[in-house]
Amino acid sequence: MRLDSLYQDVIMDHYRRRRGHGLREPFTAESCQVNPTCGDEIRLRVAVDGQGRIADVSYEAAGCAISQASASVLHDAVCGLPQSEAMIIESAFHALMQSRGTDAGDPEVLGDAVAFAGVSRYPARVKCALLPWMALKDALHRSEGISR
Ligand code: ZN
Repeated sequence: MRLDSLYQDVIMDHYRRRRGHGLREPFTAESCQVNPTCGDEIRLRVAVDGQGRIADVSYEAAGCAISQASASVLHDAVCGLPQSEAMIIESAFHALMQSRGTDAGDPEVLGDAVAFAGVSRYPARVKCALLPWMALKDALHRSEGISR
């Protein structure tokens, strides 16, 4: 596999034009995550509405193209969804990234996130791609604690 296939057009497009970038208010909970092996950092906020839907995901991210593109893809994938559906996508993405290139991913579930299938062949990059999703999971977990 050539290295440039790691940086698919979809990934580069999201990296250059990050959807939903910037920290916004109001928000329900926030999570900060760091990937020390690559130096990626993300601060991610979720705004959960009264019906348990993710009204917004906002973030500030620094680091490699993969991690930042992943945050942008995440924003597009989960905004407007019930938390339960967002977690189904999170699980599917996690499984894809653990597949070491054996899984092409289901575009019906993952949307643009299937573009990261090739990244799963590179263990060091897998952490970059998963970082925003770890932040999402953590932020949603925290938001449950707040509303309880
Ligand atoms: Zn990275």
